[in-house]
Amino acid sequence: MIDRGRLERHIAELSAIGGKGAAVTRLGLSREEQRARTLVGGWLAARGARVRRDPAANLFARFGSEGPAVLLGSHLDSVPEGGRFDGALGVLSAIEAVESLLDLQAPLRRPIEVVAWADEEGARFGVGLFGSAAAFGRLAPGVAERTDRDGVSIADALRSLGEVGDPALARREPKEFAAYLELHIEQGPRLADAGRALGVVSDIVGIYHARVTLRGRADHAGATIMSARADTLAGAAEMVLAVERIARAHPDGVGTVGEIAVRPGAKNVVPGECVFSIDLRAARAHEDLVRWVLAEVERIAHTRGLQSSVDELARVEVTPLDRGIALLLRRAVKDVGVDAELLVSGAGHDAQNAQLSGVPTGMIFVRSSGGSHTPREFASLDDAALGARALAIALRELAA
Ligand SMILES: [Zn+2]
Repeated sequence: MIDRGRLERHIAELSAIGGKGAAVTRLGLSREEQRARTLVGGWLAARGARVRRDPAANLFARFGSEGPAVLLGSHLDSVPEGGRFDGALGVLSAIEAVESLLDLQAPLRRPIEVVAWADEEGARFGVGLFGSAAAFGRLAPGVAERTDRDGVSIADALRSLGEVGDPALARREPKEFAAYLELHIEQGPRLADAGRALGVVSDIVGIYHARVTLRGRADHAGATIMSARADTLAGAAEMVLAVERIARAHPDGVGTVGEIAVRPGAKNVVPGECVFSIDLRAARAHEDLVRWVLAEVERIAHTRGLQSSVDELARVEVTPLDRGIALLLRRAVKDVGVDAELLVSGAGHDAQNAQLSGVPTGMIFVRSSGGSHTPREFASLDDAALGARALAIALRELAA
């Protein structure tokens, strides 16, 4: 049985870490994320799990003995001023699912591991799905040397949390896992619009993240005639509009420039350097979207006499999740009274790294009335408990 009171208490206790009103700021690889791991690890240890942190700061809590485990969980970090449910609800539902299975006192056919992936959001270092990428050997080379705005590297951040500073050491073999299940709030309005509490994910979009650096020339804004300028911000503006235009023309692509910085950054200086982010996603023909945007960035830079360099931060392919697990999850969701639709996830998830590594993976979405990555994100206790019950049913089929 799912204990609604406990679930509610856990949501409240967890969101107090980094919480301010309804907003939660618990960045990846921060002290707040570490405190959240300690709290959650304590709950799991109290139920008899063997709890450990790996060199990428992922938290694993194992029940049962030898053999491939059923893995379930999500992440504990948030974006700056995010909400209480994105990631957190997946970890807390996993705990509820395990608790309800342990309460049955049925022997485990397979071991179970609850996981809290570190730094899923990539808000601080720009590397999303960090912990799961490390665990499944899918980190880009040299990633540990990436720095945040204060010049602190991922390796430094890991060391300050008591790790050795090499996230590649977190690697595990996909064959250690029989399946991976993740519950997450839906990050769009489809479930809410359809009046359904739960959905099952069929595919996750391909994601491309990059940082573009443009170099031109910083000049006096008064004394430099227009034809003699190499203005990086004007070039970036054209590129931002190109991202929008190309994504609009793509059959189901979306493209966003969400961050931009100009140097030296003074009103009377022509911007000599500009750095901006690119986020490109699509469930189909994702590679085309990326290729078209990069070609346009290069063309615009060339036309304007700017130097451009593109630093790829993450590239995750379109990920069809496991069909067998999706069927199992649909049955489980139906058992709790919801005739679930299959949904494509427009947001990236740690589940992608598991599935792309060959671990049969499935996801349940829970309706969120306020979207996500905002303090408005909200899953009702009814919906959350329903999701946890469906997850528990799926877990029982796979592990007990
Ligand atoms: Zn999330």
